[in-house]
Amino acid sequence: MTASRILLIVLDGISDRPCPALGGTTPLAAAKTPVLDKLAQEGCCGIMDTIAPGIRPGSDTAHLALLGYDPYKYYTGRGPLECEGSGIHMEPGMIGFRCNYATISKEGLVIDRRAGRIHDTASLSAAIQEGVDLSKFGVEFIFRSGAGHRAALALKGEGIGHCVTSNDPKKEGVRPLTVNAIKKTPAHEKTAAVCNEFVRQSTKILFEHAMNRERLAQNLSPANIVLMRGAGEMGKYEPFQEKYGLSGSVISAASLITGIGRAVGLPHIEVPGATGSQNSNVAGKISAALNELKTKDFVLLNIKGADESGHDGLAEQKRDFIQKIDPLLEPLLGLKDTIIIICGDHSTPCTIKDHSADPVPLLIRGDGVRMDDVFRYDEYHCAKGGLNRIRGTDLLPIALDLINKSHKFGA
Ligand code: ZN
Ligand code: ZN
Repeated sequence: MTASRILLIVLDGISDRPCPALGGTTPLAAAKTPVLDKLAQEGCCGIMDTIAPGIRPGSDTAHLALLGYDPYKYYTGRGPLECEGSGIHMEPGMIGFRCNYATISKEGLVIDRRAGRIHDTASLSAAIQEGVDLSKFGVEFIFRSGAGHRAALALKGEGIGHCVTSNDPKKEGVRPLTVNAIKKTPAHEKTAAVCNEFVRQSTKILFEHAMNRERLAQNLSPANIVLMRGAGEMGKYEPFQEKYGLSGSVISAASLITGIGRAVGLPHIEVPGATGSQNSNVAGKISAALNELKTKDFVLLNIKGADESGHDGLAEQKRDFIQKIDPLLEPLLGLKDTIIIICGDHSTPCTIKDHSADPVPLLIRGDGVRMDDVFRYDEYHCAKGGLNRIRGTDLLPIALDLINKSHKFGA
């Protein structure tokens, strides 16, 4: 029997280094995970450098690699992918930024970089889209709200470049910065001028907006300036369906991941209650994935909570989150006709509160997979598995071969 579908579950930032708070083991090794262990026992395990040994991946570059898109070839910065994740369709050559609504005082000092963690900024973004005019530069723009205080800005026009700085001072009590060209050529200088004009006009609109007057009256921080960063030019992505001959979907609460999906033509499936945090509706995400597999060949499901605990340095919380989601994976045990892949996108060690290059644990389970002796899903046991140590860009080719969709090289 050969399976015909692939389910790729990325447990974001799942792996770790030995944690003193857990007696010198990792949160994944410390967690009781009978379902993950059963899948490991029924499959073949290994460890994986999502980009390459010693390279610390971002979630974005890691996911590109896991989808088989070499990040060294395709990655052009976070901005354009955030734009895609916010629902802006990016054409090659457009410049994308990730943005924050923030608060400045009357004196022009940044006093809250997240505008009181405002949510529902749609009316503010609509006012900016309606009121800002960049036509004197010959540039069009699309500005959209994201989750919470986040937003995204895309620029489209002739002769614009992406090598520009941010206006975000990254701290409070100081003025926003002027956007400057990093490379002194007309295209980058034009983009810098466009950005500064965008900020000037949008700030004026935001200061006068009824929603911000209302927030001031209620003693809440008004969202009266847009801070932008992560400028990048949208790259050219070969659509996933053309590259592999597979239809697919992405399920993730993180706009960066849904943006990567959209960039390669994989639609995002919305799941109510999916937050990308500890309290996320993980059960809902699993059942949405199983539902998608009824009609799709491939589903990428990202579960984010463990990464968050790693960034916060909370080893016990990370272990508990892993223990909490393990039983929710139980429906996978009965899943037929499917190659199930479970891996991390990078390690997020609690001891360093950031991503590290430590390889991630990987399991592949399904028809035709050569079972190995590994019976536990963690960093230590997987390192002894039959897949040995592979790179992220190897993963999709291996899965394609297991569903008989790889091309023969040679006669
Ligand atoms: Zn990640
Ligand atoms: Zn992270």
